[in-house]
Amino acid sequence: MARYTGPVCRLCRRDGAKLFLKGNRCDTSKCAFERRDTPPGMQQARRGKLTDYGARLREKQKLKHTYGVLERQFRKYFEMAESSKGNTGDVLLSLLERRLDNVVHRLGFGLSRNAARQLINHGHITVNGKRVDVPSYQVRAGDVIRVKNRAKSLDAVRAAQSESRRDVPDYLAVTESLIPEGIVGRLPGKEDCQMNVQMQLIVELCSR
Ligand code: SF4
Repeated sequence: MARYTGPVCRLCRRDGAKLFLKGNRCDTSKCAFERRDTPPGMQQARRGKLTDYGARLREKQKLKHTYGVLERQFRKYFEMAESSKGNTGDVLLSLLERRLDNVVHRLGFGLSRNAARQLINHGHITVNGKRVDVPSYQVRAGDVIRVKNRAKSLDAVRAAQSESRRDVPDYLAVTESLIPEGIVGRLPGKEDCQMNVQMQLIVELCSR
């Protein structure tokens, strides 16, 4: 299945939650979800109450759309989380949060996860000195994420940094130097993810 390429604000309206897919715009009065919180083309009242399955599916879609992963990738993360020793929901969140595109975004190098993904795809990002162009790369504690030392890369990231209004989470640290650089201090936990999702419902849905 191809990645969703329509207007991303539709996803927020469809999932019934702000997914923060458009960078700074999401925190302003221009946010489409704030202006109109009913799904496109339908009044909420006409949709009726969600079934148990619908509620579980909605939580899963919120998580997938926030991190920008497709169903097949999501299933893979779920299987990894399920076979791990920890709490499945917590591990699943941590795996998603450890994606390189998410980390680049949360360091403030890209205003949205989509923008961060583009930076990675275009070769602007290195991990531990090596170019990594795979957005799903899983960061590890101690990894050093750095912007390539070339004008195009630096301009793109500095522009995002100057506009970014989000705080860098505790598990990451940005070092102030000529070249923007971030360090993964530790692996993220569920408290670092800032996700308003009911993980138990997702685990129940995917465990079937
Ligand atoms: Fe969602 Fe952001 Fe669009 Fe608001 S502006 S509807 S939070 S993507």
